[in-house]
Amino acid sequence: METFTWEQIDETSYYDCLLDYSHAELTRLVAERGFKSIHADRLFAALHRGDHDDPTLFDRLQLPKPMLALLNSDDAPKRSPFQRIEAFPSNDGSVKYLYHLPNGAQIESVFMPFKNRNTFCISSQVGCAMGCTFCATGAMGFRKHLSAGEIVGQVLHMRLRHPNPRGQTTRFNVVFMGMGEPLHNLNNVMKTVDLLTDPHGLVLSERDIAVSTSGLVPKIEQMASYKKRPHLMVSIAATNDGNRSSIMPVNRAYNLEKLLACLERYPLRRRERIMLSYVVIAGVNDRDEDIAALLAMSQRFPSMINLIPMNEHELSPGMQEPEEKRLQRMYQTLLDAGAFATIRRSRGRDVAGACGQLTTQYERKAATQKGATPSPGTPV
Ligand code: SF4
Repeated sequence: METFTWEQIDETSYYDCLLDYSHAELTRLVAERGFKSIHADRLFAALHRGDHDDPTLFDRLQLPKPMLALLNSDDAPKRSPFQRIEAFPSNDGSVKYLYHLPNGAQIESVFMPFKNRNTFCISSQVGCAMGCTFCATGAMGFRKHLSAGEIVGQVLHMRLRHPNPRGQTTRFNVVFMGMGEPLHNLNNVMKTVDLLTDPHGLVLSERDIAVSTSGLVPKIEQMASYKKRPHLMVSIAATNDGNRSSIMPVNRAYNLEKLLACLERYPLRRRERIMLSYVVIAGVNDRDEDIAALLAMSQRFPSMINLIPMNEHELSPGMQEPEEKRLQRMYQTLLDAGAFATIRRSRGRDVAGACGQLTTQYERKAATQKGATPSPGTPV
């Protein structure tokens, strides 16, 4: 019998996790080992539509025996990018997950139930280079870009555990609002969009996916050039350059005018709006003049404003949630002026809901226990 190996052949990209392969890459990999494209189709579909963690997954696929042997061999790419996963269920119905990567790092994602569709909030990096002062992930600094497999693995993990209210596991929304600046890792984020929308996999629409950026103007321009692109969300957080630079250092490179001019040029599809996220911090950006300036910005292009009350955490001392009365006044002012606006409250507050909070708590606990691995969540 011919011997097959996982060694790299020709120019095919080689990854150590099967979830990193696009359908085209998997097809090439399989073809180079002498198998048919239908076998790659079955493998891709099983990984993305089934439970990639199920040890018997490949046995049910009607694959040639040599291919099955190859997939089950010790040097085969692994099926999951994570070593272990812990779940932290919240009283509000959301569940926060902590994923342990093979290099010892952790990332987070959040399942958020909504009336018609579930939303999965996922991470794109370990840590973040952007340093926003209201954010626990920003305090970690940048550690690593996540691969497409490490990003899509979060979605695949959550969708199987959280079917939507109609029992489906193939209809949901994905938002890149977890750890990291997604546009700093644009190639892997766009590959993830390809993986999630692939006709051989979950066939999600790119309109079911939203990417939130702190305002990396050249990367927004790059994303605008892609035919298949997710919704764009931009974090504003302050209405003048002085304030914005002090809480979002990215503003020193791409100030508000550069950012807004770029958003004016951004090619929107029919009925599409750019989501402007505004973290409301008491006494910092919740004055009447802030809301008037935010309104003026939002009128420069089709937009929707998301007011997000500050989720207080220990890594941003002095940054507090606004009074409810104040928040409602801001919201009403926007509505009265004809803006599309919502208030989005953080989910999972009782389980370290702020982005990066769970990971930083975990790291501190591990450090104080001198290398021990605390396990505060439920292993899943
Ligand atoms: S808010 Fe987003 S971009 Fe800013 S530091 Fe946090 S993760 Fe990074």
